[in-house]
Amino acid sequence: MHLFLKSPGLVLCKKCTKKILPHTVCPYCGMYRGRQVVDVLGQLAKKEKKAKEKVK
Ligand SMILES: [Zn+2]
Repeated sequence: MHLFLKSPGLVLCKKCTKKILPHTVCPYCGMYRGRQVVDVLGQLAKKEKKAKEKVK
């Protein structure tokens, strides 16, 4: 899985300036093309829940 080492075509999120894939919702702040399209906090909560379930 060496695909993860290379990250071609990354762009900077205009809101949080993190490196993200182009044409995707920013996973850090949920912005896409200037709009808040994802409830990032809600997603994090879900991920944490899943992680805890996996531990069990
Ligand atoms: Zn962002």
